[in-house]
Amino acid sequence: MTNLSKDFKSKISTLARISSLTIEKVQESSDGTKKILFKLEDGNFIESVLIREKNHWTLCISTQAGCQMGCKFCLTGRYGFKRDLLPSEIVDQITISRFNMPEGNNIKNIVMMGMGEPLANYKNTIKAINIITTNSGLEFSKRKITVSTCGIVPMIEQLGRDTVVNLAVSLNAANNETRNYLMPINRMYPIEKLIDACRAYPMPKRRRITFEYILIEGVNDSPEDAENLARLMRGVLCKFNLIPFNEFPESQFRTPSDERIDAFRKILIKHKYTAVIRKSKGRDILAACGQLRGAEKGHS
Ligand code: SAH
Ligand code: SF4
Repeated sequence: MTNLSKDFKSKISTLARISSLTIEKVQESSDGTKKILFKLEDGNFIESVLIREKNHWTLCISTQAGCQMGCKFCLTGRYGFKRDLLPSEIVDQITISRFNMPEGNNIKNIVMMGMGEPLANYKNTIKAINIITTNSGLEFSKRKITVSTCGIVPMIEQLGRDTVVNLAVSLNAANNETRNYLMPINRMYPIEKLIDACRAYPMPKRRRITFEYILIEGVNDSPEDAENLARLMRGVLCKFNLIPFNEFPESQFRTPSDERIDAFRKILIKHKYTAVIRKSKGRDILAACGQLRGAEKGHS
């Protein structure tokens, strides 16, 4: 830009810099789901997933390269933690993924359910949400954004004070013993504290908190678990996403049978909850929940 003075150019170069993610690989699943592997400037990798719904697309984005939370069932957790993403790296996943949809198609929903724990990278996640939603940014409605968390209680409270976005909580167990075993974060913030924070969370109007519950054979999928869950959540305005455990190479857990999954759902329905079974899309390309690793063989 020849119309800027030398002084101004050198000043701006100390304040800002232009950079972007680069696409390393795009894989398409038989159901139309696309997994995009991005390379960061420092050589780390992250993944985003474009999910084709009936009439629109949902984009699942990452907030960290890897994750520190160590949940036993999650490949991202197993892969370890590299670093927090910058606000720009969170937002760029949207601006770049857009070009991987057929012309005229749009991203309708953005879910922060990719790699990492958004509330463990709180400052940058909030900055990214602000850029995604502001009129001088991407102009998405906050109602179209969902933050998914493993349950860092003080940060759920903070999120409610700072913005108004949809909240999803990965619950995965109806008692502290099982949740402690599956998700180490529960030892710090047990279920009762987590549910209190959810009750107090200010959701967008007419929306309910989503509780994600991975069904794992023999661990948390019995009829008794379902009854306990129904009792535990009494009075909480919520809905359940039941996610059959997605197996990955070397996973120690198994997916329950369809009958067992259905029986679990029916108990929640009997107790007047909304419960849907989320068969994750993109399983054939390891793009489903908990299967993101952020590296191809030979890239790690
Ligand atoms: N860290 C955040 C967001 C990313 S994880 C969180 O934990 O909510 C996104 C979702 O994938 C979570 O609901 C998690 O419970 C689920 N998940 C992780 N591993 C899974 C697996 N192997 N099969 C099915 N779902 C899984
Ligand atoms: Fe991290 Fe979420 Fe995976 Fe747990 S489930 S290890 S919090 S990405």
